Amino acid sequence: MSHKELADLIFPNAKEISYYEGKYPERNLTEGAIVTRYAPSPTGYMHIGGLYQALIAIKVAKQTNGVFFLRVEDTDQKREVENGVIEIVNSLKKFGLEADEGMISSEEGKGNYGPYKQSQREEIYQAYAKYLIEQGKAYPCFCTPEELDEIRAKQEAAKIRPGYYGVWAKYRDLPVGEAIEKIKNGEKYIIRFKSGGREDKKIKHHDVIKGNVDFPENDQDIVIIKADGLPTYHFAHAIDDHLMKTTHVIRGDEWLSSVPLHLQLFHELGFKPPKYAHIAPIMKNDEGNKRKLSKRKDPEASVSYYEKEGIPELAVKEYLLNIANSNFENWRRANPDKKIEEFDFQLNKMGVSGALFDMVKLLDVSKIVISQMTAEEVYENAVVWAEQYDAELENLLKDKEYAIKVLSIERGNKKPRKDISKWSEVKNNIIYMYDENSLEYSYPDAIDKEDINEILKLYIEKYFDISDDKQTWFDKMKDLAEEFGYAREVKEYKQNPDAYKGHVGDISMVIRVAITGRQNTPDLYEIMQVLGKEQIEKRIQNAVV
Ligand code: GLU
Repeated sequence: MSHKELADLIFPNAKEISYYEGKYPERNLTEGAIVTRYAPSPTGYMHIGGLYQALIAIKVAKQTNGVFFLRVEDTDQKREVENGVIEIVNSLKKFGLEADEGMISSEEGKGNYGPYKQSQREEIYQAYAKYLIEQGKAYPCFCTPEELDEIRAKQEAAKIRPGYYGVWAKYRDLPVGEAIEKIKNGEKYIIRFKSGGREDKKIKHHDVIKGNVDFPENDQDIVIIKADGLPTYHFAHAIDDHLMKTTHVIRGDEWLSSVPLHLQLFHELGFKPPKYAHIAPIMKNDEGNKRKLSKRKDPEASVSYYEKEGIPELAVKEYLLNIANSNFENWRRANPDKKIEEFDFQLNKMGVSGALFDMVKLLDVSKIVISQMTAEEVYENAVVWAEQYDAELENLLKDKEYAIKVLSIERGNKKPRKDISKWSEVKNNIIYMYDENSLEYSYPDAIDKEDINEILKLYIEKYFDISDDKQTWFDKMKDLAEEFGYAREVKEYKQNPDAYKGHVGDISMVIRVAITGRQNTPDLYEIMQVLGKEQIEKRIQNAVV
């Protein structure tokens, strides 16, 4: 009885691997082009760490005129959720990280190296498993779950390494004839890889991010095809990344310790291995302890959080690049107007250990991103967000012309205001420009309460003229200040504080509070221009008690 007979019995319909080798030729790319992929499992939840990986993978591919593709790894069908693929496809699209090839909906893909969903590639994996069986490098294992438990219990009791290897690999050396007989008798089995590795020998690996690492060889006879006919991640990874011509496998560093096994699989299958770049996870400082961002504990671990909060996608990407390459920040400072596509990202400059996620920093980045938008862009983004999450804001924004005027205050100039970090802040940021009846007046304590009404009255009667230019407007503030015994200039006041009640800044603060209900606002002159004559008169009247 030969291995060939065993292989034919197990996979009677599988094609020769030469068929697939021919079907997926080398990619026709320029020298140095990098082919990367994002290969998530469709578990119905996009983690910020997944977005981080996808961003890095796409950046590296684009920078080298390579290819970035999206492969869905759904071989663990127990974990799969409905719409899991769509969620991933949509998230990538939303963040402008669309793949050149790969899944575009739950069932469909685009590109010449597909299918791009592992459950649609069953016959390919079986062809390669058959090939390994023919070579005597894989075999059926008939262990029941109870037998596997028993093996584990014995290993634990003897305090030795767990797993299915060496003498513990019960069916590794089962004569082919016996295996054939068992299969013919209908016994259940899975397919295992027959490892030629030895645990006491080391392999050297150079990881693009982690650098040089040594590992013991893999000696585990891992499962390659499960009882449901689908492959395990390890086996599928080797075949897919070979056939799809991935040059760089960029993935989470939880897979680093699987590298010996993966290199071994590539070798036994006769494939050239890719380069590996293992990314450290994004961490969080939890009361002094550094831990991974957790799906369960941290809302910001989910990509949907950023959408709900209204943090622009570009800000999230900028921030993630900040974490990924520490020189990004300096580059950004030196090139405030450049697109992130122009940043020369280096995989090998990524940190070996996990960077800390810092929401304050992200929001700072976001403030800058939003400050660089035109009023029209802020408006459009805020409307889209409000339609989903805030009916009140949606309503405020109905009058587009007015909203754009409001959002234009201190925007589009050299030093735009950085006072919005997310769309969910827009309402609070502009509300006083809308509702003149709900303003609360809180004047600084330093201003004489008696003066307030008089200042407001006199301002409206004598000084206010909506058609004044800014200089005239400000000169009038000074005149008003003087009339009430306040210094015309802050400097004068500082030189001789006892001679004045305060200075012009205090006077304009009174007007500011009366008009906006706030002590802290953008440029008051611009605000008044947007509000217009009637509103100002009304607001000042309201404020006079
Ligand atoms: N499906 C694997 C995961 O989600 C992907 C690992 C890889 O990128 O190869 O962890």
